[in-house]
Amino acid sequence: MTDDHVAEGATTPVLVLNAGSSSLKYQLVVPESGAVLAKGLVERIGEAGSDVADHAAAMQAMAGRLRTDGVDLDDVRLRAVGHRVVHGGPDFSAPVVIDDGVLARVHELSGLAPLHNPAAAVGIEAARARFGVPHVAVFDTAFFASLPEAASTYAVPRDLARRHAIRRYGFHGTSHEFVSRATADLLGRPLEQLRQVVLHLGNGCSASAVRGGVAVDTSMGLTPLEGLVMGTRSGDVDPGLHAYLAREAGLSLDEIDTVLNKRSGLLGLSGVNDFRELEQRLAAGDTDARLAFDVAVHRLKHYVGAYLAVLGGIDALVFTAGVGENSVSLRAAVTEGLEELGITVDRARNAARSTAARVISPDGARVVVAVVPTNEELAIARQTAQLVG
Ligand code: ADP
Repeated sequence: MTDDHVAEGATTPVLVLNAGSSSLKYQLVVPESGAVLAKGLVERIGEAGSDVADHAAAMQAMAGRLRTDGVDLDDVRLRAVGHRVVHGGPDFSAPVVIDDGVLARVHELSGLAPLHNPAAAVGIEAARARFGVPHVAVFDTAFFASLPEAASTYAVPRDLARRHAIRRYGFHGTSHEFVSRATADLLGRPLEQLRQVVLHLGNGCSASAVRGGVAVDTSMGLTPLEGLVMGTRSGDVDPGLHAYLAREAGLSLDEIDTVLNKRSGLLGLSGVNDFRELEQRLAAGDTDARLAFDVAVHRLKHYVGAYLAVLGGIDALVFTAGVGENSVSLRAAVTEGLEELGITVDRARNAARSTAARVISPDGARVVVAVVPTNEELAIARQTAQLVG
């Protein structure tokens, strides 16, 4: 390989795609520098009255919008396409170059992620037809393939679990991995020496316990419903709730699934799922908003405490994603009263507005509390570039 080649390779972008059932998020990013050449969202794919009939049409729409933004995909020397895939099931514990077999498997895993994997498979198919470069699948579950069996196993009959691939998979793995590495960089300490609790708090929320860069526990499970209180998802409930709702409220299984995924969480408790709106209602004295906030914080404390015990103490507690990076009040509430555990935040540091990775605990605190912005697209671009060389 000539020097020219190396220099060129280091500046050509990776197209990162996140295909949902009716949307396509895209970002054109240079993995080495993190430079974002363009990004956007195609919505209402396949909906009545939309002029984007399917994911193939969405690829065309994306290319058109990129051209409007001054980026011609045919001129840009695309290095590869990186696809976010939610569920890798028991098969995928690392990113893979997509061939027909991988695509078929992503599709077959739809039983485990009916809302996500079918869309990812359709998006991959459309993108492969449009872009003749290597395609890579980066799985949301991969980082948690390392969970010890004691943490990943549900106490249900083993033959049933084996037959249906039932285990705790975990999600948001790309983010947890990226943020735990970025935290080591921020602290200037080797990742291998750090015990971290990472709180990814966006619309979906998850916590992870990371020892030396390896995930040892996480709050999401077989599906992204388990764990923390989220925008519209309940997180942990008594598993007996399903049978109770079926018998007492006459709900079907699909209805129960919808209630717990789409009508619960902050939305179910307060009527709003957006955290900024929740904070506005809190400020106005809304008691439902107060309860929603308190339940979310209580659950967060549960997980922080649990992971402290799992790790035998922690070096860093890290907040990330939309809520974690921005909500001063939530970070204050989660860390309040934990001084005995070495966890405290400096009031001014917590309140300071910034988009940079930063420490918000006082100097010399036993546990570093940090805010570290996540960047899943960059992480996917980097893993994709690494794999295709
Ligand atoms: P997603 O899970 O869809 O990637 P994000 O990580 O973007 O979501 O997080 C979205 C959440 O972050 C929303 O609830 C939004 O209200 C919240 N959020 C964004 N900015 C702020 C802010 N300045 N203060 C409080 N919450 C915020």
